[in-house]
Amino acid sequence: MKERLESMQTEALAELGRVAGPQELNELRVKYLGKKGQLTEILRGMGGLSAEERPVIGQVANEVRAAIEGVIEEKQSAFEKQETERRLAAETIDVSLPGRPAASGAAHPLNRVIREVEDIFIGMGFTVAEGPEVETDYHNFEALNLPKDHPARDMQDSFYITEEILLRTQTSPVQSRTMLSRGGVGPVKIISPGKVYRRDDDDATHSHQFMQIEGLVIDKGIKMSNLKGTLLQFVQEMFGSSRIRMRPSFFPFTEPSAEVDMSCYQCGGSGCRLCKQTGWIEILGSGMVHPRVLEMGGFDPKVYSGFAFGMGVERIAMLKHGVDDIRHFYTNDLRFLRQFARS
Ligand SMILES: [Zn+2]
Repeated sequence: MKERLESMQTEALAELGRVAGPQELNELRVKYLGKKGQLTEILRGMGGLSAEERPVIGQVANEVRAAIEGVIEEKQSAFEKQETERRLAAETIDVSLPGRPAASGAAHPLNRVIREVEDIFIGMGFTVAEGPEVETDYHNFEALNLPKDHPARDMQDSFYITEEILLRTQTSPVQSRTMLSRGGVGPVKIISPGKVYRRDDDDATHSHQFMQIEGLVIDKGIKMSNLKGTLLQFVQEMFGSSRIRMRPSFFPFTEPSAEVDMSCYQCGGSGCRLCKQTGWIEILGSGMVHPRVLEMGGFDPKVYSGFAFGMGVERIAMLKHGVDDIRHFYTNDLRFLRQFARS
């Protein structure tokens, strides 16, 4: 019996020496020391031993058990240590590595310009009004003193959807909508930024889709001098120009009408490449609201007068940032757009 125990120990230790993982180790524990294991199996024969032999064999059995348990524990803690090291290695965080910056978006340069212009006019007491881009012929043309046969309609080649519906060619229909919503009672003091559409061939200065900002003021006693003062304030804040000049012009919805130039903010008026040596830069169109337009908007032209102006957002942005091609704003080249993200 003693030999059986000793050979079992030898066999067990040899097997334990080759054990590769915790699961196999557990199987060996069951095989040798478990309730139905080999040790129990051998000790079952103790009953047939003499009273002298029993304690001797009992001691051998205890030694064998202790020897096997010892190796199993050793192996067990070695496997646990291995596992801990593996996990530590896998979960290592190197706090010295540089962080990964999160990419952030930025407002489009045209939207930035619109916001800047809005801020300036809001500072002068204007509110921002918006209107639909798909517009009726009535609001886009007729209510602005451009009846169907008016030759000035040719100036704005349009995208018609039906005979009465089109993509708006200007932001001016917002004037008409705002006036009609006021029921003939002033004051009105709005600016209206937005997209407009014309059948133009795209080139460095033309785009079939572009943006305008329209302004409208209606109240009792509004004069040309109010228009001039408002626009001077605007170019001073937007560009740092010191003066404006008005040249007679024609628009169907204003009378009188004026093109407005600002003094060149780069040379101060002495002449440079930007102003083509003239000292002046054309910036927008404006005028006193035509009495017919007031009337169609529900305002009595004998009581109320007003002024209106409109400017191209792209032109303002091109001047402000020295951009030489309008198409840059619409081709979404990140190299172009990123220049404005930090400015
Ligand atoms: Zn200049």
